[in-house]
Amino acid sequence: MNIAFIAHDRKKDEMVNFVIAYEHVFKGHALYSTGTTGTRIMEQTQLSIHRFMSGPLGGDQQIGALVAQNEMDLIIFLRDPLMAQPHEPDIIALLRLCDVQGIPVATNVATGELLVRALQRGDFAWRELVHKYKPGEEQ
Ligand code: PGA
Repeated sequence: MNIAFIAHDRKKDEMVNFVIAYEHVFKGHALYSTGTTGTRIMEQTQLSIHRFMSGPLGGDQQIGALVAQNEMDLIIFLRDPLMAQPHEPDIIALLRLCDVQGIPVATNVATGELLVRALQRGDFAWRELVHKYKPGEEQ
């Protein structure tokens, strides 16, 4: 599965602790992140993460491009609900694209835990079929 992590600044410690707790689950997957979030996670775990640009510089949009192509399978996006973000339009755009494609996205740790447990159980195996049978692509 292709999994992306994004955390706003005041949520980065929470994200790192979350990923440490489920490192054994995440290590079997292809991992992506915005720039600083990925750096912080990699400093504290053994995980290898493909890091896009920092969120305010376009990282959310880069992840959004994969969502638009239906290539991202799961997103953990720990938003800061108490702080205005300069790239708010990018954040809204990313969440919108998740809804367009029906991509599981958690915006807090409580939901993140549910999604990770579902991932462990194999509940997202249907995503393999999405990858296999992309509309408009030759099989
Ligand atoms: P960052 O971006 O991981 O580069 O800090 C996240 C964000 O603020 O959208």
